[in-house]
Amino acid sequence: MSSLLQNIEPIMYLPIKQGESFKVVFSNWMMKRIARIQKSVLTNYESGGMLFGVIRPGELTISFATPAYPDDKRSKTEFVRRDKRHLKVLDSVWHRFGGTIGYLGEWHSHPECDPHPSGVDKKGWNAVEKKSGKPIVFLIIGSEQVYLEGRI
Ligand SMILES: [Zn+2]
Repeated sequence: MSSLLQNIEPIMYLPIKQGESFKVVFSNWMMKRIARIQKSVLTNYESGGMLFGVIRPGELTISFATPAYPDDKRSKTEFVRRDKRHLKVLDSVWHRFGGTIGYLGEWHSHPECDPHPSGVDKKGWNAVEKKSGKPIVFLIIGSEQVYLEGRI
């Protein structure tokens, strides 16, 4: 497990262990989407979704993400992804890109400048990690900074 809090950059390096890091690349699409979310993060309900992209040795590219859908649970302090549309997108992405672009993790927003995961977030992420078996990342978007955690 490794984590990082910083302003959003197209390339971020998650420290893994001493002297080693894992490269996380954000696509243009993802950079624009994050910037848009950041504008309303302090006043909106939390939002979130799945992250999709490509994994290579030592590197992971986040290509795009699902937005919050109407059946997700949203409040000022909570986002729970439960709308079936996320899974439908996952399925169609898998087919459309022939398995080259896949599930990379989860994102959600926090109504704060420098977001940190809650105990509930950590529990949820642990459950996702158990199911995944592949490198995954978790992203929290705040108004100024993003929190990125990798389970590499
Ligand atoms: Zn959270």
